[in-house]
Amino acid sequence: MGGYVVQRGSDVALFGTVYSNPSLLEAMGDHQIRTNRALVDRLLPREAIQAQAVVIGHSHYDHLMDTPYIANAYATNAKVYGSRTTASLIASSLPPARLVDVGPAAAAGKGIDINSAAGATPRMRLWPIASVHSDQFRVMVPLSGVNIPFHVWRGEVSEPLTTLPAHSSGWAEGEVYAYLLDFLDDQGRVEFRIYYQDSGTDAPMGFPWGGKEPPDGKRVDVSLICLGGDFEHLHNHPEAIIKATRPRYLLLGHWEKFFVAQDDICRTSTVRAIPLQDTHYFIRRAKAAMKSARLDGKPIVPCPTASVLNFPIDPANHAAVHKAMKKPSTTYEFGR
Ligand SMILES: [Zn+2]
Ligand SMILES: [Zn+2]
Repeated sequence: MGGYVVQRGSDVALFGTVYSNPSLLEAMGDHQIRTNRALVDRLLPREAIQAQAVVIGHSHYDHLMDTPYIANAYATNAKVYGSRTTASLIASSLPPARLVDVGPAAAAGKGIDINSAAGATPRMRLWPIASVHSDQFRVMVPLSGVNIPFHVWRGEVSEPLTTLPAHSSGWAEGEVYAYLLDFLDDQGRVEFRIYYQDSGTDAPMGFPWGGKEPPDGKRVDVSLICLGGDFEHLHNHPEAIIKATRPRYLLLGHWEKFFVAQDDICRTSTVRAIPLQDTHYFIRRAKAAMKSARLDGKPIVPCPTASVLNFPIDPANHAAVHKAMKKPSTTYEFGR
């Protein structure tokens, strides 16, 4: 959920791809949860086999649980980039050489080169940005006017575990990162730049360049923005991050109702959104924010499991992208 496969030719990265959806009872009741391998086998885009990187923003089950299986069965050449907690939680499934703690690079403001082979010129560069996780939801106490915020499954894990977590609470949030992922040309210049977050935040946490202009003058091509979580009680989400990244294309992710199995969702007629959230309201705000930042186009709301988006590098081609987006004949239902 909220996961993406991004590709430029043979350069492929995954962002928190998860397909296994425990039910609300299993997740909130802390029952045993695990990867639904058959579902991953069916839905994971085959491009994932080529991936050099699996990028994880935080370690909740709905962003990390399927990574051990995907990294062993499909993306067998990829390293997993995430927090120390991410590496610790899945240490029983992958050798240490395939687990990269991005914390030191985030602290030093450094990019991490991703090479397809040792000694080769880097084709991608990943910039981790220290971020935070919003509350997940808020429940109003009837007749009282009181809202109780919920922020569950917190905590960090600093030592490698010997087995994978078996319950939602075991998938501890850990340190949280947003990212810039740069696709580089043969001269090492940035050709295409993606911003990714898997939880909404307020500035400056999770904001690239401390909210200032990009030092290399290269603006963001695609921002992958998180719609899920208690965004209404953040100060300025998504407006602030849209203004800060000024993307050519804006994709809104992590909006689907993830307590039901995503059973080949794009071939069904309806995709339902997260309960208790006013998804339409978020989309309207994102649209208005794009307009006020003088960005062309509209926010794109992709199908969570099977959208394939090709972003032409030609900046004149916005209309073509938006037209292409309409192809999967899926109705998005954004009820509360
Ligand atoms: Zn989370
Ligand atoms: Zn999440």
